Amino acid sequence: YYNSNTIIYLNGQLVKASEAKTDLYGQSLHYGFAAFEGIRAYKTHNATRIFKAREHFERLKRSCELTGIPFTWNIDDLIRQSYRLLELNNLKDAYIRPLVFSEPQMTLVAPEHTSIMLCAWEWAAYLGDRQLKVCISPFERPNPKSIKIEAKISGNYVNSILATSDAKNKGFDEAILLDANGFVAEAPGANIFIEKGGKLYTPAKGNILPGITRATMIELCKVLDIEVIEKEITVDFLKEADGSFFCGTAVEVVGIHTIDETVYRQRWRDSIGATLQRAYKNLVLEKVNYEVII
Ligand code: PMP
Repeated sequence: YYNSNTIIYLNGQLVKASEAKTDLYGQSLHYGFAAFEGIRAYKTHNATRIFKAREHFERLKRSCELTGIPFTWNIDDLIRQSYRLLELNNLKDAYIRPLVFSEPQMTLVAPEHTSIMLCAWEWAAYLGDRQLKVCISPFERPNPKSIKIEAKISGNYVNSILATSDAKNKGFDEAILLDANGFVAEAPGANIFIEKGGKLYTPAKGNILPGITRATMIELCKVLDIEVIEKEITVDFLKEADGSFFCGTAVEVVGIHTIDETVYRQRWRDSIGATLQRAYKNLVLEKVNYEVII
């Protein structure tokens, strides 16, 4: 992720990653009370462009507000600093990781002061580009009555890591987690769409991270005249569908081949998912805009 020349942004300063320091007594480190984002920049024909930078920093702010983590930064400035970071590290295609974390504090009281860091590195599509073998995880997504599930909070990712490890140990590429009511929720780090009879279905908000790529898929579907239905989805519906795919900033758009023992019969290249995969790539690379997406 970094070498001796890598520069990061830390509390208003650009410093070497290898020399930047944090505190071993930090509340974030001990209890996972921190907020973060995952953003991608793409080398377009014009210049390197950060895709939906404002939406991501707005979500970071909202994650903080939902949980009482102080957020005191200006979003325009954070976007500017992100571009500077890419330039200083000579990154064209990159993943950008902002993290808001707390000062030394061992109590379970929300902190009064926080720090922010931004770092970036080159990162290929997180789950690769071939279709995935996935399993229904024995781990549920956290109940929204127990945690702010719509906030991108570090501690929520203990659940994601447990589900991923379990799936990999069983020989699958990835997990799908159900919500506390037994409906399909999301992957450890991505949202899910299901295709059936020429329409798309995706879990409604409430038990998932409201993904920025998920919102982009819905916008693309409007342009492409594809109906998207947001609702509760059962495991049976997921398995009896024509196909499904994950989407997220890190994974982009990736098809699902099998769920547990169920193999989708539809070929990926004939699916709505494949169309959206191409459309998404064209959009982030600014080859097209929404109006002329096809
Ligand atoms: N769900 C979870 C649990 C995630 O970690 C992510 C990645 N941020 C997503 C969904 C997809 O969100 P986005 O499209 O905003 O990256």
